[in-house]
Amino acid sequence: MAPLVDQAGYWGERTSTVDWCEKNYVESYYVAEMWNTVSNLVMMLQALYGIYDVFRNDFEKKFIIAYTFLFVVGMGSWAFHMTLLYEMQLFDELPMVWGTCFSLYLLCDIKSPKSLSKPGLVAGLLLSISFTLIYLYNPLPVLHNTAFAILAISSYVLQICMIRQTRCRLCATLYALSFACYLFGFALWNVDKFYCDNLTSFRESIPGWISPTTQLHAWWHCFAGHGTYLSVLLTIHLHYDFHPRRDQSRLKISYCGFNVHWTQDGGKSK
Ligand SMILES: [Zn+2]
Ligand SMILES: [Zn+2]
Repeated sequence: MAPLVDQAGYWGERTSTVDWCEKNYVESYYVAEMWNTVSNLVMMLQALYGIYDVFRNDFEKKFIIAYTFLFVVGMGSWAFHMTLLYEMQLFDELPMVWGTCFSLYLLCDIKSPKSLSKPGLVAGLLLSISFTLIYLYNPLPVLHNTAFAILAISSYVLQICMIRQTRCRLCATLYALSFACYLFGFALWNVDKFYCDNLTSFRESIPGWISPTTQLHAWWHCFAGHGTYLSVLLTIHLHYDFHPRRDQSRLKISYCGFNVHWTQDGGKSK
């Protein structure tokens, strides 16, 4: 197998502030990081399935926006890893922060009185705009990572407080699955980032057809995408725990969060 080295490609010189472990333009002249690019399909397809679920189960339409953010992050990440251009990096990173702000708003909105719904939305919007301006003037990766981590941790903390109140076992399971997915994905993200040399030499020592499975940043996309999908499902379930439907049907989730539907089982799923 030929040594893995960066090659020149269609999108020209890299202008993004970060480059990942996957060598550039090795698989295709048109795609800088092939596996880091196509792995975003997992995120995008799950987001589309989530939107279909909102219509099928007649959930509140605000959840479509949450899934749309997931879809846009997948699209942005696709564009970023395909081109390694700074503009596309922003297309990936900014929606991550906006989407997490929106998730926080959704969680706060579940419990707060109706009169606070619009101010909450405005606060989320202001937070997103402020971060965007600060990041555009200081494009430091650490700034984005810190802001995203604070928002993601806040939303996990808020979820756990609400689950303690509802004592819903399904929500607790979804929470554990979502958190585990995210944490595992994040561990892979770190190994890819800090042990790239070791990973690259290992990749050169194994048959070419297995080597894509060692692209840990691509796996991060899959695990973080599924973790986020589960987190939206959890938010939907929490919403209906606090605001049950009039017909008393309950929201049941099966297959590790891949399937969601209403059931009239008198609360056995709780
Ligand atoms: Zn990525
Ligand atoms: Zn629940």
